[in-house]
Amino acid sequence: MQAVKRWTLSLCLIAVSAPLLLAQAPEQQKQLAREIFKQLIEINTTDSVGNVTTAAEAMATRLRAAGFSGNDLMVAGPNDRKKNLVARLRGTGARKPVLFIGHLDVVEARREDWTTDPFEFLEKDGYFYGRGTEDMKEGDAILVTNFIRLKKEGYLPDRDLILALTADEEGGTSNGVDWLLKEHRDWIDAEYCINLDGGEFEREKTKRLLAGIQASEKVYVDYQFESLNPGGHSSVPTSDNAIYHLAGALARLQSFSFPAKINEITRNYFGRNAAMTTGQISADLKAVAKQPPDPAAVQRLSAIPYYNSLMRTTCVATMLSGGHAPNALPQTARANVNCRIFPGEDPQEVLHTLERVANDPKVRISVVPQLDPAGKVVPVVAVPPSPLLPEVIAAMENTLAAVWPGVPLVATMSTGATDGKYTRIAGIPTYGISCMFFEMNDSRAHGKDERVGVQDFYDGIEFNYKLIKALSSSH
Ligand SMILES: [Zn+2]
Repeated sequence: MQAVKRWTLSLCLIAVSAPLLLAQAPEQQKQLAREIFKQLIEINTTDSVGNVTTAAEAMATRLRAAGFSGNDLMVAGPNDRKKNLVARLRGTGARKPVLFIGHLDVVEARREDWTTDPFEFLEKDGYFYGRGTEDMKEGDAILVTNFIRLKKEGYLPDRDLILALTADEEGGTSNGVDWLLKEHRDWIDAEYCINLDGGEFEREKTKRLLAGIQASEKVYVDYQFESLNPGGHSSVPTSDNAIYHLAGALARLQSFSFPAKINEITRNYFGRNAAMTTGQISADLKAVAKQPPDPAAVQRLSAIPYYNSLMRTTCVATMLSGGHAPNALPQTARANVNCRIFPGEDPQEVLHTLERVANDPKVRISVVPQLDPAGKVVPVVAVPPSPLLPEVIAAMENTLAAVWPGVPLVATMSTGATDGKYTRIAGIPTYGISCMFFEMNDSRAHGKDERVGVQDFYDGIEFNYKLIKALSSSH
């Protein structure tokens, strides 16, 4: 209680001189969050040599020390390296629980590709560096910090608050959200889910542009293009060649575009973005947000890769292999074509479109099967967009007004896929809300020298804290 009072007092003092500092988390929380963040970054959680369980256990130890125990704190998973953490902060039960998710695993990072050791937490020039600083151990650290803080403050929400930190979002066959939904749905069942791995808040230098709420995402599917041939001696070639067949099909794919589509969420996004841009782009964004969208504007915006990916299914060649000897006609040629399917479109229909575009009976196209831990094929299904629930929108708007007044809330569709797809498919509406700002023109997620702004991280703690309260206090 005392700590809370001190905080209120210091708030008033700050408010007089610099109202913008209202968003600051108390020093103690910042320190705790930084410690947790550092600990998470320095536990390697890659699929190849890392261990997600180590990270889950480390967070469980901290939560246990804060008072979480028994059935309110679980570490479990399908195997020793891929365990997930689930913690529950009990509420009055007046409403159904809210689930908060974050993934603990990170994409591979090689020391020789980086300027510094990717698994060493480093603060430099206003940034935290390390693999997972942007995707998404910053979000995990924020959630753990706030669950500890709320528990210690004796906060009584009007609904249970559930935290799930999970494995294999980035790859691997032991996806934690999927596993929890199948094996222990009761641990994480909720009215809706907030996923910190999505819904970026966009910042351009020092200007905070918008707070995203990701309510929809594209579906990830790989297709294999394959050409087989009897082969032969390369000194007597023919034009019937596996590599040429494949190359021709890929060249036709290069010049093909799927038809443009706009849904409720992207229309809203384009409309809001029009207000934040100028010139031709602004006019074009306005024109595609109209019903029906203006075809000339659609065509112009399609030249910008990001807008293009928001307006249609995209399919692109990402890997290539073929041949078996320099002096032999190839018997095989294969390519991986990665598609990001517009929400609601049928992956089987996309396959038929690809066959039509390839236009060569000697190129066989098939879906690359995704396997579950038991080796079974996971069927590809469409992911429904989540309805924009008024109580979530209201909580977001109120928290934004308190922390970053004037920053608009914009519903977004993610061009990539997140764990939100599992909860959406399971019937739990899911909203990606990063709770912190990222520099929109310098995303290093999955890349070299990944980093996140120190102040952005600290501001995020307070935003997330206020948002959790707004979602769980009876009005
Ligand atoms: Zn992520």
